Amino acid sequence: ALLITDQCINCDMCDPECPNTAITFGAEIYEIDPDLCTECEGFYDKPTCVAVCPIDCIIPDPEHVETPEQLTAKFIKLHG
Ligand code: SF4
Ligand code: SF4
Repeated sequence: ALLITDQCINCDMCDPECPNTAITFGAEIYEIDPDLCTECEGFYDKPTCVAVCPIDCIIPDPEHVETPEQLTAKFIKLHG
């Protein structure tokens, strides 16, 4: 899964683009639910939130490192 750092400026660009509705507004900044983020596996070649973020504050989550196979399995679990 990916992680939004505290540099986030709450611009709301990423939230509507996520195909898994993994991005929501948290206590202070936008947050990614690691149980829903497939790093866009199953939808796009690259994470679409990263593509639209104007300040590049979305990074790999070091506490939720996953292989392509694990991400594909998560996609199948979420979408059948
Ligand atoms: Fe959503 Fe894709 Fe970003 Fe994960 S990488 S939060 S699935 S847009
Ligand atoms: Fe924050 Fe980037 Fe999303 Fe904007 S696009 S809300 S700066 S993570």
